[in-house]
Amino acid sequence: MMQWSKRTQSSWIQLAGHQGNVRLSEGGEVLKRFCEVEAICLQALMSDALCQFVPHYFGHISQDSEQYIRLEDLLSGLKNPVIMDCKMEEEIIKARSKTSVRSDMYQKMVKVDPTAPTAEEHVQKGVTKLRYLQWRDDSSSTSSLGFRIEGIVMENGKVLRDFYKTRTEAQVTETLLTFTRRQVHILEAYESRLQALNEALKESNFFNRHEIIGSSLLFVHDSNSKANIWMIDFGKTIPTPEDVHLRHDIPWVEGNREDGYLIGLTSLITLLGEAIKQ
Ligand code: ATP
Ligand code: MG
Ligand code: MG
Repeated sequence: MMQWSKRTQSSWIQLAGHQGNVRLSEGGEVLKRFCEVEAICLQALMSDALCQFVPHYFGHISQDSEQYIRLEDLLSGLKNPVIMDCKMEEEIIKARSKTSVRSDMYQKMVKVDPTAPTAEEHVQKGVTKLRYLQWRDDSSSTSSLGFRIEGIVMENGKVLRDFYKTRTEAQVTETLLTFTRRQVHILEAYESRLQALNEALKESNFFNRHEIIGSSLLFVHDSNSKANIWMIDFGKTIPTPEDVHLRHDIPWVEGNREDGYLIGLTSLITLLGEAIKQ
């Protein structure tokens, strides 16, 4: 039993986020570092029309003097899972007031594209967080398609994270084909799951009342052809004020609070359709 859980732990994969923020417990639950905003969202989602699209939330625990959110393991029972994390909307909204100059973000920028920083940014060897996020959204598919691929794990455990410049529809479609190894039934299963999500969102009180920021769709399939998609990561998702009614299908501009969630979802459904045709 011990051996089994050890093996499960070592093959369990965290794609996005700071490594170690999310891990598998001995009992097979996913533990994520506690965040009250996220815990409140997950609690509300358990009795919402979206509950079939969110990992089950078991409440929280203290362990080694840290608090964790307890989640259903979405990889449980899968054989050599293939995973993709698609980040649906950016944190630009949150970063607009951050004007301090960051050298770590400058370094990340230069690594992807040495010509991206301005002359001034090169001199100070730093960029603001807003500038970095804007550049990242524009180089990737976030600005044009409403989502970007954060990372992929293939069935052999190989992790692919180099999607900063995956921007055009053709590039994303190609990535979807690689990710699914052109298996049409997997692509179709993903497409219909997203169509079902689109329907559930229309019924969802939670979606109606929240600005969904920095959340991902986690795509998971395996060699037994199980394929599923889940909404994860609600650490930055916030309730909207009573008098604000979000549409979710228009871009964010200063003051409108829109998250553009449905723009990303519609793009993904369209591109899965494109991939199926190829
Ligand atoms: P960031 O905000 O940087 O995206 P985060 O710390 O908020 O990261 P998440 O995005 O929630 O963390 O999770 C990080 C990764 O952990 C996901 O990309 C996924 O690979 C894995 N993960 C999260 N929740 C689950 C789950 N319930 N089951 C399986 N894997 C999960
Ligand atoms: Mg995340
Ligand atoms: Mg997060």
